[in-house]
Amino acid sequence: MASFNNARPKNLQKLLQLSNHYRQPALRLQQTSAKTLSSCCKQFNSYDSNLTQSAADADFSSCGYTRCRKLCGCSRCVSPIETSAFHVGPYSSPFPVGFTSSIRSFSSSGSREEPRESMEYDVVIVGAGPAGLAAAIRLRQLCEEKNVDLSVCVVEKGAEVGAHILSGNVFETRALDELIPNWKEQSTPITVPVTEDKFWFLTEKRALPLPSPFKNHGNYIISLSQLVRWLGSKAEELGVEIYPGFSASELLYEADESRVSGIATNDMGIGKDGSKKEIFQRGMELKGRLTLLGEGCRGSLSEKVIKKFQLREQSGSQHQTYALGIKEVWDVDPSKHRPGLTVHTVGWPLDTRTYGGSFLYHMDNHQVAMGLVVALDYKNPYLSPYEEYQRFKQHPSIRPFIEGGNVIQYGARTLNEGGIQSIPKTAFPGGALIGCTAGFINVPKIKGSHTAMKSGMLAAEAAFDALSKETSQQPSMEQYWSSLKTSWVWKELHQVRNIRPGFDHGLLAGMAIAGLEHYITRGRLPWTLKHGKPDHECTEE
Ligand SMILES: Cc1cc2nc3c(=O)[nH]c(=O)nc-3n(C[C@H](O)[C@H](O)[C@H](O)COP(=O)(O)OP(=O)(O)OC[C@H]3O[C@@H](n4cnc5c(N)ncnc54)[C@H](O)[C@@H]3O)c2cc1C
Repeated sequence: MASFNNARPKNLQKLLQLSNHYRQPALRLQQTSAKTLSSCCKQFNSYDSNLTQSAADADFSSCGYTRCRKLCGCSRCVSPIETSAFHVGPYSSPFPVGFTSSIRSFSSSGSREEPRESMEYDVVIVGAGPAGLAAAIRLRQLCEEKNVDLSVCVVEKGAEVGAHILSGNVFETRALDELIPNWKEQSTPITVPVTEDKFWFLTEKRALPLPSPFKNHGNYIISLSQLVRWLGSKAEELGVEIYPGFSASELLYEADESRVSGIATNDMGIGKDGSKKEIFQRGMELKGRLTLLGEGCRGSLSEKVIKKFQLREQSGSQHQTYALGIKEVWDVDPSKHRPGLTVHTVGWPLDTRTYGGSFLYHMDNHQVAMGLVVALDYKNPYLSPYEEYQRFKQHPSIRPFIEGGNVIQYGARTLNEGGIQSIPKTAFPGGALIGCTAGFINVPKIKGSHTAMKSGMLAAEAAFDALSKETSQQPSMEQYWSSLKTSWVWKELHQVRNIRPGFDHGLLAGMAIAGLEHYITRGRLPWTLKHGKPDHECTEE
């Protein structure tokens, strides 16, 4: 993934400093002029893609390259500081992402006195997920259509775009159809249409088929990380600057704190005791006339903004509720592989008081993405979603799919399940919340990529209008909040709003309410069920 190719000349020097600061080795090779930067970027890019397509980090492919952890001084050797940051595991990053987060708590207090370098943009986007990249693309599309030049940058804490994306994904193309209408004519990583859509109620020994409420025909089974990589390349073609490997750790405010004015990356090189080490480097400020937060579920900056500007109070929404999704990708016996098959289950191994279910998607290349989603309001303090998932794989109807295969990737991630009842106001002074950080997952469908993208696009349209107006007033994102509420995203979430809270009364009551809402009333019930207690209050002693 190219990273610095679109950098504007005034920012080049600062970028070099920033790359040094993050100890990205290839960028330290040559640091003289814009010309050498571009050749340096090429080296960095090939180096980076080799690294991040290692068996550990690859999204379903392996080029055989890994970083050397022996500290022997070879060209792919990890410096000691990076080694300490290594997360060993499939979603680990070869760059010091773990390192940056591990010192986050010291970052601002330890070093306030030193000034930070800063770069200015019209729009700063945090997070290169479906929401952030759709916003970036839409903004630059509008710039091209209307002949206006707005500078747009995206910071992504993953070592490369897509490195932190986790989802065996059944993708609904509605937002993509609007964003890039001719995507089918391009070489997109969207190639496996859903052919079979099964829904089973599991008991310990049996799988009882039910009518599938998912309506997945017309959707595609994809790797979401491959899709965001493709979106990243589209954004860069349009002139968006994407900086992977940089975590936004702090919000910047105007002097009177009334308005967000950008983000800062965190300070580096601070000891466990808070003291500055020799290698200490101050973080970098990315100032934006508008800042879009697309951090995904429970983003750290987003939570701060929600609190500071009382965005839940402003929308009258409830608390957010969450689930944990565990996912594996299996390389299976080709004779067992049925590309396009999706299977969803409810019931065993979860008890009737615990909301959740499994998914199993046959992708291409003999690969199967499967996992278990467990709502975090479970009562039993001894329940372990991981152990439940291990049991699930032993079920007589599931085991045959994967027997003899190998796990090539695994991970876990939270999803928000609050739906429309839990969406805070998405516009705040100086910016907006886009995608899952606000919470647009359609829970009964377990789909949020299309809604995340659409929210990013709507935010981009509002940002473009606000920034291209000749006015003395500060640009505002209020238009995004109103357009969201009249969009298909809102309508879709409104229609399914009662399904998740229905399961607060147990599996059978939940299924009855879901059946009623899905097949008969279609979201037209005159009431909206509320969520119960926040998840952490639900666990019993
Ligand atoms: C197990 C599981 C299965 C799912 N299945 C489906 C499915 O089948 N279909 C579907 O449509 N959806 C599915 N989803 C939901 C889907 O993955 C999300 O709705 C979608 O990814 C949300 O997009 P987003 O851009 O809002 O956030 P994300 O995809 O989470 O992207 C956020 C990005 O921001 C980066 N980031 C976060 N904080 C910072 C920071 N401070 N600084 C810099 N970068 C930052 C992250 O590294 C990440 O790359 C599933 C989710 C899970 C967990």
